[in-house]
Amino acid sequence: MQVFRFSQARSVDAAVRSGGAAGASFIAGGTTLVDLMKLNVLAPQTVVDINGLPLDRVEAMPGGGLRIGAMVRNSDLANHATVKQQYAVLSEALLSGASPQLRNMATTGGNLLQKTRCYYYRDTNYACNKRQPGSGCAAQDGFNRIHAVLGGSEHCVATHPSDMAVAMMALEATVHTQGPKGERAIALDEFYLVPGNTPNRENVLAPGELITHVAIPGLAADTRSHYLKLRDRAQYEFALASAAVVVKVSGGRVGRVRIALGGVGTKPWRSREAEKALEGQEASRENFRRAADAAMADAKPLQYNGFKIELAKRALVRTLEQTTQAA
Ligand code: SF4
Repeated sequence: MQVFRFSQARSVDAAVRSGGAAGASFIAGGTTLVDLMKLNVLAPQTVVDINGLPLDRVEAMPGGGLRIGAMVRNSDLANHATVKQQYAVLSEALLSGASPQLRNMATTGGNLLQKTRCYYYRDTNYACNKRQPGSGCAAQDGFNRIHAVLGGSEHCVATHPSDMAVAMMALEATVHTQGPKGERAIALDEFYLVPGNTPNRENVLAPGELITHVAIPGLAADTRSHYLKLRDRAQYEFALASAAVVVKVSGGRVGRVRIALGGVGTKPWRSREAEKALEGQEASRENFRRAADAAMADAKPLQYNGFKIELAKRALVRTLEQTTQAA
């Protein structure tokens, strides 16, 4: 049984101070951390409870857009009136994740930081560079059906499991933090790191740096959005492939479009290639397929996950069809 110190942070400053200690870890909803502590995958020396911090509000920003506190629960965010009306992609992504019970606990900040579902990461009998740097990657020659086809390296091919983050990527969210060196605003696309030769580093957060809120810009009038998730069962399952689309269509042509994919990349995968292929083009199935081909042009299949390439293309084409038909 693990022995660890437990402290409750009464302010963001106090949380940052406590969280910066060696071996410290923040706990919010606990839906990732507690599981991994039980499995002996994570063993923090200090657990800093941030549930008392005043970061649980969704607020309209003066210039448009939303400021979402890091402690806003996934179920509250999914059912927030403005999110449902103006950011359907985000509400749909949240509601496609996990189970109602988990969504009642999981938080916005925690969801961004949730750990991969790679079986080998969660089983300490196997080599895993993410869990134990330099130990190897059992997935490379193992059962890699759920692993990434985009952004992987010889050191790690784990997918990022979040649905919410895929939607936020398409919404061009910015992550706001407070750390020992002050406050930062980080574009979500720059927040995550691909594994390279340091898969244990998943994002740019420094020790003790706490996500305080996420900002989502306002959308132009008539912008539509949609999230589609494909998985092995209808509920309580992670994506094999998913697509988030935020698009404006006028006169049958695609205007500004933002596209992100889930389940296929080592991080929530923004596809600028697909966006470039689509913008200014007629909103047609042929052009959607061309964009999907562009999105997956650099995909590298492993032994068991080659099916994800076509699956992701179909997910994107379908999402584009559904989103633009509604326009
Ligand atoms: Fe570990 Fe990544 Fe390899 Fe999975 S894919 S075993 S998380 S190094």
